[in-house]
Amino acid sequence: MRDDLVSRDRAHLWHPYSSITDQAPLWPVVDAHGTRLVLADGRELVDGMASWWAAIHGYRHPVLDRALHDQVDRFSHVMFGGLTHEPAVALGELLVRITPAPLNRVFFADSGSVAVEVAVKMALQYWQGRGEPGRDRLLTVRGGYHGDTAGAMSICDPDTGMHGLFRSYLAQQVFVDRPRPGYEDSLRPEDLDQVRAVLEEQGERLAAVIIEPIVQGAGGMRFYAPDYLRALVGLCRSYGVLVLFDEIATGFGRTGTLFAMEHADVVPDVLCVGKALTGGTMTLGATLCTQEVAEGICRVGGFMHGPTFMANPLACAVARASVELLLDRPWQADVQRLERHLSEGLAAAADLPAVAEVRVLGGIGVVELADPPDAARLQTALVDRGAWVRPFGRLVYAMPPYVSTPDDLAVVTSAMVGAIREVCA
Ligand SMILES: *Cc1c(COP(=O)(O)O)cnc(C)c1O
Repeated sequence: MRDDLVSRDRAHLWHPYSSITDQAPLWPVVDAHGTRLVLADGRELVDGMASWWAAIHGYRHPVLDRALHDQVDRFSHVMFGGLTHEPAVALGELLVRITPAPLNRVFFADSGSVAVEVAVKMALQYWQGRGEPGRDRLLTVRGGYHGDTAGAMSICDPDTGMHGLFRSYLAQQVFVDRPRPGYEDSLRPEDLDQVRAVLEEQGERLAAVIIEPIVQGAGGMRFYAPDYLRALVGLCRSYGVLVLFDEIATGFGRTGTLFAMEHADVVPDVLCVGKALTGGTMTLGATLCTQEVAEGICRVGGFMHGPTFMANPLACAVARASVELLLDRPWQADVQRLERHLSEGLAAAADLPAVAEVRVLGGIGVVELADPPDAARLQTALVDRGAWVRPFGRLVYAMPPYVSTPDDLAVVTSAMVGAIREVCA
């Protein structure tokens, strides 16, 4: 059964960032519940990934499943051109209510990457509407990750992103060094020197700055100082540059605040959310903007985006259920528990010779290795210890479901430390 599924998969399918000629190990999942993934061979793994930040309530949560069933019994999808429905309206109202007041207009997208494309197009169309079409470039920091579609790729880190492979296809954007100060470090005036110089030289060409608040996710899992974000936003605003935040990874509590921007008490003009939005059940993203941005955009007509499955009712219904479930739970205490147990459990990794740094913020625990590991061996060693943790480059990191118990977290962190000790000698 197991070999059968794996070999059928291997015959025809792609996996994320995978090669078909150099195949990585693959584990068939037959069931998932709570914090557990059940493999075809009967083993149960404790989930340390929340399926890439998304499954914050764990798997097969009855509230989410009920929301999906109820909506299936009404209708699964209708086009959003010329039609509307309760799941979309209610989710839109909810997102407006839980985000800062100026963000009051919601565009539903199919995924995080599409939400980023929408944000970028909003910024560009806004400047068309404002009669400054020359503002057609984006400013961003190195070390970022914003998705895999073309617009999103153009603002990902130029070295770890895919700029090398797709150079002639990608828009040329303006990069500054990644934020220097770590989360606890204090900001120095020179930390923003490059940003100041870029704004001075090309401020009038810049449509917007785009950044992941506080946590740079897939671009390196780094946590930077709230003061940096506040200073960056202030500088960009002083040159009229729009501020776009990508909270696709950090939104819905992961860093200990509902949105990471709250660490710095700053508000963007445009905000992208995704990943945990549906509690890991369906693909959905959303891009929120201010009334001022929305009106600027519409001076040149309609906003030019409209996916076939826009505001899919199943996705919207389950997203609403997931966000309401989150707000009803003691989620701050949940994330603090994750932070405490990840810090305690990963502390031992700091003493391993192969480890460069251990860092934890909210429900994110990161072990950065000094050198790239043997990824297949490390992944297998983690699974053999009963945890689902997926290393990426030199990063072995966990962002477990918020419902993880101390015992779950102990399995995840001891698997990380043990596997690194075994494989990365
Ligand atoms: C995952 C991610 C995206 C892309 O979202 P997809 O749903 O994978 O397209 C964009 N930005 C950030 C910060 C992300 O973590």
